Amino acid sequence: MEIALVGIGKIAVDQHVPSIANSPDWELTATVSRHGTVEGVSAYTDLATMLAEHPEIRVVSLCVPPVPRFEMAAQAIRAGRHVMLEKPPGATLSECHTLEALAREHRVTLYASWHSREAAMVAPAKAWLADKQLTKFTVTWKEDVRRWHPGQEWIWQPGGLGVFDPGINALSIVTEILPEPVHLTSAKLEVPENCQAPIGATLAFAHPTASVDMVFDWRQTGDQTWEIEAETTQGTLKLLDGGARMQIDGSEQGEDGDALKGEYPRLYANLARLVAAGEISMDLSPMRHVADAFTLGHRTLTEPFHE
Ligand code: NAP
Repeated sequence: MEIALVGIGKIAVDQHVPSIANSPDWELTATVSRHGTVEGVSAYTDLATMLAEHPEIRVVSLCVPPVPRFEMAAQAIRAGRHVMLEKPPGATLSECHTLEALAREHRVTLYASWHSREAAMVAPAKAWLADKQLTKFTVTWKEDVRRWHPGQEWIWQPGGLGVFDPGINALSIVTEILPEPVHLTSAKLEVPENCQAPIGATLAFAHPTASVDMVFDWRQTGDQTWEIEAETTQGTLKLLDGGARMQIDGSEQGEDGDALKGEYPRLYANLARLVAAGEISMDLSPMRHVADAFTLGHRTLTEPFHE
């Protein structure tokens, strides 16, 4: 099926373009970006023009930052196109609800993608935890912002989410694998004095049987840490490398049998299934926890951030 990519920046080039190129389901027919292009693909700088000139493109995948995404998604849906959204699906929960209603009205697929949920060991972790009683749950998500977001200004602006940009990936895994819902009870947000969004966050959640704590930090140089540890009455599960690896009581578990490797190839396979079935996938739970942290969070100003 023919697809258009909008916002040819870091993630489009790193993941979306190769995943589409290697998929039997998709053909990249056009791009929309003010500066970015993909070699050999028809390039537009304006979404309305692309939609008008390419009625055969039924699906639009949006890789722009969260704030400009709503208007583009609404425009594509009103033009009768199926839409895939990078994470987070929008800048606010309300605009995401509006988009979902719009997609239902126009009978198109809307897919709020969560790439970290497609990491190889997330499904096995969910299956293992399903019948366990949790006693302690810890998320440690520490990375170097300069390494992963070089020169990106939007991440520090309102709606850019700061350290919750990677933190929401952790939350997308947590909300997928935990059998019981959790809700935030406290948050400490460290905000650089020249920025609008936090560089560090410490969160605590309520759970029926366990303590649930999370630390997100964007100041980690050297080794990067994307780990989730779940202690239960029947052993301890550890997800490492953002969900790519899993250990049970310290012993490494094999990869799942899925021949389709990689988070983004799986997202595009999901998109093909959703479009074929005419379905909407709009789970906003990771974003709800982030919104709660911004609502309830205690802010401290920290030293200014410079690239
Ligand atoms: P990016 O490179 O900074 O931006 C993507 C492109 O969006 C830009 O190159 C720009 O292209 C276009 N754009 C349109 N309106 C914009 C605006 N108001 N401000 C800035 N750029 C605008 O961002 P990214 O890292 O690819 O992230 C895009 C989305 O993917 C985010 O939601 C992010 O959370 C998600 N994501 C990123 C990564 C990663 O490793 N970076 C990983 C997974 C998911 P033109 O200038 O050509 O219009």
